[in-house]
Amino acid sequence: MNDLPRIGIGIDVHRLQAGRPCVLAGVPFDAAVGPVGHSDGDAVLHAACDAVLGAAGLDDLGSLFSDKNPANAGRASAEFCIEAMRRLGERGLRVLSMDAVLETEAPKLAPHRQAMRAKLAELFAVPVDRVNIKGKTGEKVDAIGRGEAMRATVVALLGPV
Ligand code: MG
Repeated sequence: MNDLPRIGIGIDVHRLQAGRPCVLAGVPFDAAVGPVGHSDGDAVLHAACDAVLGAAGLDDLGSLFSDKNPANAGRASAEFCIEAMRRLGERGLRVLSMDAVLETEAPKLAPHRQAMRAKLAELFAVPVDRVNIKGKTGEKVDAIGRGEAMRATVVALLGPV
């Protein structure tokens, strides 16, 4: 029953705070602000995990790794990706392609965009030319535009292994 492609979407918002470490799509940024979160707050990887888990018909990231569990405090989100991919593999599924948008005023993504793309490709076991990520600002509108938060949206296409 897994022979047809499956699409999934994940959306994740994190508040931004001065002095927080900033890791986005698994890539460390030297930035004045970083996402607040129980884990490392990597909104891109959280949205990516929810996209692949959703497409596979599996429970979402919050159910797998509760923010009430102290074991997940400060945890590198790359570990969530490894577990999501393990569960995908159990279902005989793999990621065929992924596209991500990160809306934020800061930091600027352009200098690290290719590194983020390569890291997503590595974590989700897809060729680099089947993964993309782009940055958008919030045009001064709402919490994102005021620099109070960032939002990642990721779509993922899955197919059989
Ligand atoms: Mg999150």
